[in-house]
Amino acid sequence: MKKSLLPIILILITNVIILTLLYLNIEGYILLTRFYKNEFVLVLFISFMILSYYTYYYFSQYNKKVIELNKKNIELAEVNADIVDRNIELAGLNEALIKEKERVRSAMEVRRNFLSVVSHEIRTPLNAIVGFASFIKEFEPDEKEIHSSVKNIYFSSQHLLLLVNDILDYNKIEDGKLKLKILPFRLEKTFELLESMYKGIVRDKGVELIFNITEEIKGKFFEGDETRINQVLINLLSNATKFTNKGKIILDCKTTSKEGDLWTLNIKVTDTGIGISKEDTEIIFQKFIQVDFHRARKFQGSGLGLAITKSLVELFGSEIKVESNIGKGSSFSFDLILPHVHKKDNIIEKESNIAVLSGKTILVADDNVINRTVVKNFLLRWGLGVVEVNNGREAFNYVLSNKCDIILMDIHMPEVDGFEATKLIRKLNDLHKSQTPIIALSADALFETHEKVKECGMNDYISKPFKPQELKQKILKYSILNLQNLKR
Ligand code: ADP
Repeated sequence: MKKSLLPIILILITNVIILTLLYLNIEGYILLTRFYKNEFVLVLFISFMILSYYTYYYFSQYNKKVIELNKKNIELAEVNADIVDRNIELAGLNEALIKEKERVRSAMEVRRNFLSVVSHEIRTPLNAIVGFASFIKEFEPDEKEIHSSVKNIYFSSQHLLLLVNDILDYNKIEDGKLKLKILPFRLEKTFELLESMYKGIVRDKGVELIFNITEEIKGKFFEGDETRINQVLINLLSNATKFTNKGKIILDCKTTSKEGDLWTLNIKVTDTGIGISKEDTEIIFQKFIQVDFHRARKFQGSGLGLAITKSLVELFGSEIKVESNIGKGSSFSFDLILPHVHKKDNIIEKESNIAVLSGKTILVADDNVINRTVVKNFLLRWGLGVVEVNNGREAFNYVLSNKCDIILMDIHMPEVDGFEATKLIRKLNDLHKSQTPIIALSADALFETHEKVKECGMNDYISKPFKPQELKQKILKYSILNLQNLKR
């Protein structure tokens, strides 16, 4: 029994005894009238008072405990609700973790596949380059054999270059660093070049190539990034060629609207090749994806082409669409919104101007003798004079005491690099020397390097391996600018 109830029970027993005695007295069984009756009543009264106090005290204590317990219960209920919430949260996190683990696992698998594909893709053209070069070096092939080996080396190296550029481009796109270079160009010329490039390729496969280009664009100049538009079309045409063994490949280009000078052109590449299933059309634009990895390995490719194509088309402010049926063929299309420009202002015509180049001296600064020789071979053929130096310090010393018209400057060189050498040249007092056009010629394709090239005062950038036509155009451009500066 609880201690606090004991006094109440004792008092209750006493009261019952007193009440019994008083009852017995009233009924006359015992006689208390004369003796102790008043004392009993007094004791009864005091007992009642004590009983009331104890009862009050007991119940108030009890009440306090009940309130405390209630509070604790409420607290416990809150803790419980918290635990339930945390459990729900943990279950959610767990689910997310399982999904993330699955995503990382499949990303790793895709990357593993990508690495194996890329190493295969690199080794295939490398094998051809090394093989044909060794063949020419080891034996004494006749002119026809040399010609065909060199042609194969050229195509394999172009293929290798495309792959490396795709990987670099994709990184640039992912980092949001790929910027379009908007310049006036003739879309019609782009199509002409593509048609002649792919005609030969599809002819060997017995596939017909048709270019349906709207007459309206003939002779018109548009403003846009010609190189990137070309890259998108090359990706689509290469895939169409790769996955089509009979039938046709059609490139359609038609004007869908004109708002002032803003033309919307719809471009569609259709083929009658192997086609893509409905579910695969939803994943082919993801990076490193090749439909049915094992089947796709029958074909060359890195699985980056369509991912790059999609991002480029989005940079053009448009969207790429695909329609395809297994066994029947595919069609990829997008809108190209281009401003039409009327004048040919600022357009340097691409026809070469040998007269401007002849007699000019080009200083080639590069620590790699093979790279110097490659550039020198082209420059000499174009009638230019060439001076070779090994590094930036030698380039600076040459400019100090000699005259040269343009400098082709490698960036990473021992002693003094291309950036430092340019800064030193730009600080020279002789205005003619300090303003010598300097073109960076480097294999460093990082976006940051392009920025640094501009910051340190170089005029332009050409990446290695260089396109001979681009090198010639830039030399021509700076020769003309130099001439105009001298006339002023
Ligand atoms: P790849 O360089 O490997 O071809 P892409 O990103 O260009 O990579 O293409 C991804 C995949 O999409 C290809 O491996 C192929 O399975 C599918 N694909 C793309 N174009 C076509 C097409 N015209 N016909 C059939 N399948 C295609």
